[in-house]
Amino acid sequence: MRAVTFQGPDEVRIEEKPDPPPVAAGEVLIRVEASGICGSDLHIYHGRVPVEPGFTIGHEYVGTVLDAGAGVDRVAVGDRVLGCFHTACATCAACLRGDYHRCEHQRTFGHGSHLGDLQGAQAELLIVPRANLTLRPVPPGMSDEAALFAGDVMGTGYHAVAHAGMKSGDRVAVLGLGPVGLCAVQAALAGGAVEVFAIDSVAARLEMASRFGATPIHLTEEEPKRAVRAATDGRGVDVVVDAVGDPAPLAMAVSLCRDAGTVSGIGAYAGKGEVPLGLAWLKGLQLRLGLANVIAHVDRVLALIEAGKLDPSPLVTHRMKLDEAAEAYELYDNREALKIVLTP
Ligand SMILES: [Zn+2]
Ligand SMILES: [Zn+2]
Repeated sequence: MRAVTFQGPDEVRIEEKPDPPPVAAGEVLIRVEASGICGSDLHIYHGRVPVEPGFTIGHEYVGTVLDAGAGVDRVAVGDRVLGCFHTACATCAACLRGDYHRCEHQRTFGHGSHLGDLQGAQAELLIVPRANLTLRPVPPGMSDEAALFAGDVMGTGYHAVAHAGMKSGDRVAVLGLGPVGLCAVQAALAGGAVEVFAIDSVAARLEMASRFGATPIHLTEEEPKRAVRAATDGRGVDVVVDAVGDPAPLAMAVSLCRDAGTVSGIGAYAGKGEVPLGLAWLKGLQLRLGLANVIAHVDRVLALIEAGKLDPSPLVTHRMKLDEAAEAYELYDNREALKIVLTP
């Protein structure tokens, strides 16, 4: 089979690899019909997340079940399925609490041996362990491109809002309008937010957020703090989603949030940074951080996409072939694309 493999910093390659071994109990083999390139794939691409050379990357996928091992009863051979970006065991202490994203035996697709040694989805064939929990049938009529988002990017945008405890009638600000931020804009509006301020410095992204129903605010040409204050009687918003993932926007998030509001940091933070703790304390803020609990949300997210209340398909800006993976990564790295979907 052909697969996209990491070779070394700034180099991915399409390679011929042996087909996966026969399925074991609980596993499913799928023929991948569409896979996405994600922001976290760029961390691998640049060598910031260590992955062995030759390892197949990718963790967003839709495909058809070719074979199912013993005990798989929620999907069957021939089903069109979508998957979550990681697997969970369903029986550890974290899973029993419903915190699948903190599963003690979590394995993430396409992230090398240190994150579970699970070959990635940017390939013709994919083995999916713990398929009963990891996979869902794609609802009839839903496109591959829309379904692809449920197991990662839209699940993450949804989580950012749900984890913040956003209520219908709330006002929300979203910092950073990459795919996750744009999905958070949609999730907030679908959840009943009366106004969503969408903040970024890229005009095309602001325009897209505006089309989704948000109020766009340019990060540098306008003053986000002043604009948000002016629109909220000086109070700030109930919920701020930081979808950028470094400490500077987190400081802005604290400043945009109303007293006793919630800041939801969904961007992947790394290392140390300064957060205005005094201000956060004074305001009585809740700070909620971490990787999204996508497995817990996937059924709701799929239902919302099926009902047309969430629609990630405008985020797909490029459709390319698996064979063009090297060009696709370069393009994505140059920030010329929001979401690239690869097909065989
Ligand atoms: Zn991803
Ligand atoms: Zn577990």
